[in-house]
Amino acid sequence: MDLGIKGKTAIVCASSKGLGFGCAKALAQAGVNLIICSRGEGDLLKATQSLLSLGVDVTPIVCDITSEEGQQKVLEAGAGADILVTNSGGPPPGHWSEWKKEDILSAIDSNMLTPINLIQNLLPGMIKKEWGRVVNITSQSVKAPIQALGLSNTARSGLTGYVAGVSRQVAPSGVTINNLLPGSHDTDRIRSLNKSESLSRNIAYEEVEKEGKSLIPAGRYGTVDEFGAICAFLCSNHAGFIVGQNILVDGGNVNSTF
Ligand code: NAP
Repeated sequence: MDLGIKGKTAIVCASSKGLGFGCAKALAQAGVNLIICSRGEGDLLKATQSLLSLGVDVTPIVCDITSEEGQQKVLEAGAGADILVTNSGGPPPGHWSEWKKEDILSAIDSNMLTPINLIQNLLPGMIKKEWGRVVNITSQSVKAPIQALGLSNTARSGLTGYVAGVSRQVAPSGVTINNLLPGSHDTDRIRSLNKSESLSRNIAYEEVEKEGKSLIPAGRYGTVDEFGAICAFLCSNHAGFIVGQNILVDGGNVNSTF
């Protein structure tokens, strides 16, 4: 399917690996030029080479996207971008009794205020062009809280509330904002969470992974390519009537009718 976005420009945050890279790759396959970023230079350069081979322009920015300086650099490189995919690292696992105010503020900064600031800066340009797409990578934890990821449950809900309102205010200008809610995907993030659980429960890593997969109706983890393809569709010309939605990509893990 031709997504109708060839030649457009996208900022894809936190994208040297994992879900962000999957989104960048799928957009590049649709002919979209990219601004990508991550803190580590080595993986970002590898990602850049791989995306350049798909025939699009790629601008890599080494930065911490949660810092004001990082956001500024990315916004400068991607001034006037048509598409924004927000993403950053997930908060650490833990127990509610351990969280200090600083931990909660750090999660809010990374997973709520960072995407909101990027959206706020790019919306005026998108509205002026009467075309724009924003996709936020959030988490299934927004629909169904994950006990060990209370910081994620908390911070991402704030972003979800912002999107629910603002997406409907900008929809008349041809700009859509939606959230993609990943369940367990085969990335470094799930490996690090599994490692932490294996240590805290004193069981083998393989046992944690097997148990986790067995609880997912699809019986496996998602792939970054599957995730990226859904993101690219939401960014496509065909998705202009999808507004303010929270789309689970979780192999059926969240057990609910709606
Ligand atoms: P990942 O495989 O660990 O990849 C994270 C990517 O983001 C890397 O490129 C990393 O590069 C970059 N990154 C992290 N923090 C950054 C920062 N502050 N500034 C710039 N770049 C940064 O993680 P993932 O699985 O793709 O997860 C992406 C998001 O989805 C996370 O918020 C995660 O919590 C959420 N999520 C993931 C899953 C899952 O199963 N994978 C499920 C639910 C939600 P550097 O480290 O070099 O910066």
